[in-house]
Amino acid sequence: MVDQVDVVVLGMGVGGETAAGALAEAGLTVVGVEANLLGGECPYWACIPSKMMLRGGEVLAEGRRIPGMAGKAAVEPEWKPVAQRIREEATSGWDDRSAVDRFVGQGGRFVRGHGHITGPGEVAVGEQEFHVRRGIVVAGGTRTMMPPVAGLRASPYWTNHEAIETETVPNSLVVLGGGAVGVELAQVFARFGAEVALVEMAERLLPAEEPEASDVLTTALQRDGISVRTGSAVTSVDHDSTFTATLDNGERVEGEQLLVATGRQADLAGLGVVNVGIDEDSGWIPVDGHLRAAPGVWAVGDITGKGLFTHVAVHQGEIAAADILGREVPAADYTAMPRAVFTDPEVGGVGRTEARAREDGAHVRTAVGGLSARGFLHGAGGEGLIKLVADADRDVLIGATSVGPAGAEVLGLLTLAVHEQVPLPHLRRMIYAFPTFHRAVREALDELG
Ligand SMILES: Cc1cc2nc3c(=O)[nH]c(=O)nc-3n(C[C@H](O)[C@H](O)[C@H](O)COP(=O)(O)OP(=O)(O)OC[C@H]3O[C@@H](n4cnc5c(N)ncnc54)[C@H](O)[C@@H]3O)c2cc1C
Repeated sequence: MVDQVDVVVLGMGVGGETAAGALAEAGLTVVGVEANLLGGECPYWACIPSKMMLRGGEVLAEGRRIPGMAGKAAVEPEWKPVAQRIREEATSGWDDRSAVDRFVGQGGRFVRGHGHITGPGEVAVGEQEFHVRRGIVVAGGTRTMMPPVAGLRASPYWTNHEAIETETVPNSLVVLGGGAVGVELAQVFARFGAEVALVEMAERLLPAEEPEASDVLTTALQRDGISVRTGSAVTSVDHDSTFTATLDNGERVEGEQLLVATGRQADLAGLGVVNVGIDEDSGWIPVDGHLRAAPGVWAVGDITGKGLFTHVAVHQGEIAAADILGREVPAADYTAMPRAVFTDPEVGGVGRTEARAREDGAHVRTAVGGLSARGFLHGAGGEGLIKLVADADRDVLIGATSVGPAGAEVLGLLTLAVHEQVPLPHLRRMIYAFPTFHRAVREALDELG
């Protein structure tokens, strides 16, 4: 059976859901196709439940900071309330009924199944075929990238899915990958009592962020008892009753469980993008500023490789929907794309790092400052920094990093400064409340000169 519709959205994670919802509300006939749960990774296995887990760990850490600050405390972690909050409050038991109802309420038609582009303007979901009048939006997202490690695929490893769904905390955990997902989940499980070893191939954790941020975070994770091994690649994994990961220096790391967090990859072949002329081996779908990927095809979210964040997927979903509707809308601009890692301390970054700016040939001035009075007042857990990267020719910030208890919140101010290219003299003239974490930005600006 062939259905004529205006738009088919392939993959209903946050990117697809945003585009599909806006198009349906505008009165188009929209089919949203989702192989798993409507909402995708973020609400069920990523942002939302992981931040709930981190919040549990943060509460424990604050309890452990009481001695020396405010008296005595005996902290006994218990995973059950965390697992229960994730099951009941975050994911409704991994049930997407309310999300489906919301989409249908917007006027959309939901089809559960694996969708595949079969040709220009044509999508198949099992036996069902759709011919589109306006376009196809490809929003298939990403899944865990499996590193080529001998023995790994055959082992009962965890990805973010199993880590989020777990009802118990393993006694010990080996985490492969020191990017955002690896460091966040390593800290959660360590704070709930697991003995955690974190292995990262690059020379430092969060290799895409400033080295100063990696240093602060590494110290914090070590203080949580995590054994951090950077500059080490896992070459093989054996699983008997426990996991043994062998590193390239011959060292062996053991754990009751092993989490793979070595990056994300898209499944372009599974979506059939080759049938509309998109190279399925290119890793990501190349798009222009309006998320156009091929005639009659738009792509949004992780699959574009522009920034693996929910806020990027939503931003792109809105632009693609407007473009499909023929509305004038500014092109996507990633210059001031914020990046936040919700460890304790939080690590926020926006724009270019110093290294990246120098690679680009920018004439940069940088400054690094502490968290000033507020960091000192905070006491235990008050470590952090602000790093500013300025374009010395234009006297504006082109990048900034904020690490600390409210690092991701302070990032808001820095994102605005980078986004609007606020002249440095204007930023210096502003009054910053005392004693806030964000006042540290003012002191870093003074350092910048
Ligand atoms: C542990 C973890 C924590 C994270 N925390 C944060 C955070 O705090 N903040 C943040 O901004 N980002 C965070 N992210 C990233 C965020 O989850 C992603 O950027 C976001 O989910 C991307 O949305 P998307 O719509 O592109 O893709 P996805 O959420 O991956 O959704 C894509 C959907 O497409 C479906 N699909 C794929 N192929 C097909 C097909 N052929 N047919 C039908 N359906 C298909 C999939 O089943 C999936 O549901 C985190 C990621 C992880 C793993």
